[in-house]
Amino acid sequence: MSRAAEVAALTRAARFDRCVPDPVLPGTAVASGGCRRMMKVLLHGRCAYDCAYCGVRTCREDCSLSPADLADLFLRMWREGRADGLFLSSGIPRGVDEAMEGIVETGEILRRRGYEGYLHLKVLPGAARADITDLARVADRISINIEAPSASRLSELAGVKDYRQDIEKRQAWVADAMPGRHTTQVVVGAAGESDAEVLECMARQYQRLAPARIYYSGFTPLPGTLLASHAPTPLWRQNRLYQADALLRLYHFTADEVAGVLDEEGFLQNADPKRLLAGGRPRVDVNHAPLADLLRVPGIGPKNARRVLAAREKAPLRSERDLRACGVRGRGVGRYVAFGDGDVQSGIFEF
Ligand code: SF4
Repeated sequence: MSRAAEVAALTRAARFDRCVPDPVLPGTAVASGGCRRMMKVLLHGRCAYDCAYCGVRTCREDCSLSPADLADLFLRMWREGRADGLFLSSGIPRGVDEAMEGIVETGEILRRRGYEGYLHLKVLPGAARADITDLARVADRISINIEAPSASRLSELAGVKDYRQDIEKRQAWVADAMPGRHTTQVVVGAAGESDAEVLECMARQYQRLAPARIYYSGFTPLPGTLLASHAPTPLWRQNRLYQADALLRLYHFTADEVAGVLDEEGFLQNADPKRLLAGGRPRVDVNHAPLADLLRVPGIGPKNARRVLAAREKAPLRSERDLRACGVRGRGVGRYVAFGDGDVQSGIFEF
């Protein structure tokens, strides 16, 4: 296989990791991590593991790059202005240590050769602690994918991976090596798990390990995998999980509160969970409510909530126009708020 074909195959195979969005075209760079053109690539395009959802293990091309070659390729693209960041992961064709050492070495070569830009490097299941520490020395972000919300669910998808040992233990090392700057990914819908299970996992993750982000990858059946005939996860489920995640991560809802919108079987509806939760509560007085309550109003985010606090210091808010001046634009916000003290129109407007 030519070098160009090998690189194209390695960038195609990297698309299965959603911690960085997919390129529009295989082999091109994508915007992510503050970069406009992130190169997303694998060091090894084959894997000896058995994850039932993963397209990498079906790759026929036995393609790999050496750390030196990958560093050369990336530096050339960087100097030519075709890439301004690198996301590097790998299949595990032989052993975890060998693949991890290749990722570490690539990062070290890049830094030695003067590259100071964005590097997102992947920690593989079962990685040695020393390799994780070395990755954290050279990377801006590191991540290990938990893939399933629990040990029992992962065992249905990947018999080789030990959830507690290979993933959770390593994830604690990752959090220790790079506090607040690590991420993870959950594949949604591959193991038949409910949203209640994902939500429980999400809350545990943010509480114990404080990842910067959790990514939710709706399952897509891939030809040649064990789950090729499994139903795909609808996009709306993945998106509603992102909304539930934002309630925990940005809006300080508790997991129990968010669980209030699950149906009897533990699944989210195809509706905005923040709106569903607000529907059952009294209106929030925008002139007196604390930040935590303002954040519970659909249409008010952290930035706008702080603008509301600053604006009402000067004068009470009296109308939807005053809320709009604070940047609040969401449809139907009026039905969730009241204007105590400035209350000429309290509760009668919707916009
Ligand atoms: S370890 Fe599993 S998910 Fe990762 S590349 Fe190998 S088969 Fe795919």
